Amino acid sequence: MKKHNFYAGPSILPEYTKEKTAEAVLNFAGTGLSVMEVSHRSKEFVAVVDEAVALVKELLKVPEGYSVLFLQGGASLQFLMAPYNLMGLKAAYLNTGVWSKKAMKEAKFFGEVVEVASSADANFNYIPKQFDTPADASYLHYTSNNTIFGTKVNAPEANVPLVADMSSDIFSRPVDVAKHDLIYAGAQKNLGPSGATLVIVKDEALGKIDRVIPTMLDYRIHIQNESMFNTPSTLPVFACLQTLRWLKELGGVEAIEKINIEKAAVLYDEIDRNKLFQSTVPNKEDRSLMNVTFVMAPEFAELEKEFLDFATAKGMIGIKGHRSVGGFRASTYNAMPIESVQALVDTMQEFEKKH
Ligand SMILES: *Cc1c(COP(=O)(O)O)cnc(C)c1O
Repeated sequence: MKKHNFYAGPSILPEYTKEKTAEAVLNFAGTGLSVMEVSHRSKEFVAVVDEAVALVKELLKVPEGYSVLFLQGGASLQFLMAPYNLMGLKAAYLNTGVWSKKAMKEAKFFGEVVEVASSADANFNYIPKQFDTPADASYLHYTSNNTIFGTKVNAPEANVPLVADMSSDIFSRPVDVAKHDLIYAGAQKNLGPSGATLVIVKDEALGKIDRVIPTMLDYRIHIQNESMFNTPSTLPVFACLQTLRWLKELGGVEAIEKINIEKAAVLYDEIDRNKLFQSTVPNKEDRSLMNVTFVMAPEFAELEKEFLDFATAKGMIGIKGHRSVGGFRASTYNAMPIESVQALVDTMQEFEKKH
């Protein structure tokens, strides 16, 4: 039976990425060696990093004056590196869920963290839009897609530079990089396997604070060394390159955004139509295109376990919701074909007929 992979992360990857990576595990770039066995400083692997950096810049239309890095430590290390490198006395954070809170926690080690707004009052089921950002904050941090709560945030208007955690929606829609001093994303949602972290940082934003920065945590060190200050995660970076090639071939971020909107609409329409289910995000413009969260309608609450078993038996994998929301979460990242979304919709309709 066909499996439909709705896991939130690590998550579905394009067939292209898996095939090309599998080939390179056995014979990388005609070297007769595995991509896991070659020096990161070999000309073949340096070419991988160079092409990946160039494709990131091309696909996201990164302006001059920005550096693209492939680091390790996940988005979680970026929660720390961002304030370490960029925060003066104060930084502003928009609190839209678990990941925002974790980012704020790390920033508090360095100075005053101003929470400009929070949707904690409604279990993060909406995005606050009216708020003021202190003019003396070094930056405003936001999470562009809330993987757990199924909401998306458009780049806020602010009088200070933006810093964004784009782990779960990078390359899913266009982004105005120029508004940002820093964008970071763990690879394992929309780009590749876990183990690589994409960083896009504005060169000019660095070196402005007095704090001493440990070598490994200093973006400038990684920029000078072109992501090779220490050994990068070679296999994950190779896989990321394959996904970037796949995305370019498909028409880039603008093309995939259209597909993502279409995919999400198919699923949200069914959730809104089907009497058994309801969305956890009432405001349609706040709904994520990448993580579709939904629960049983209150009068059918007792069917939750039955639907999970029913859907699992039909090949729907990874749709159990995060414990802080409950219900279900279907992650529909770039690599997910619309056929899988349709299969889930068919399953929901069959389940409705059954009841
Ligand atoms: C998954 C995720 C993270 C955590 O990333 P790690 O790479 O595990 O550190 C952070 N932020 C968002 C938005 C995520 O979806």
